[in-house]
Amino acid sequence: MNRECPGCEGEMGDQGRVVDLLDEYSPYLDQNWTDLVDGDPDSSLNGKCLHLFVCQDCKLAMIIKE
Ligand SMILES: [Zn+2]
Repeated sequence: MNRECPGCEGEMGDQGRVVDLLDEYSPYLDQNWTDLVDGDPDSSLNGKCLHLFVCQDCKLAMIIKE
């Protein structure tokens, strides 16, 4: 499932579950996500289906609850 990028209207690809990708992509994520991670990542993420989408054109990253 792909989504349209809000920045450039390019195609955003699903990179998988956030919990599996956090270390690799965390430098690109916004402040809201950083706050969530700094809280309690295990309890706040387990049981939810948060996916990371990254724009193939401008590399914008977004967390989307599927
Ligand atoms: Zn884009």
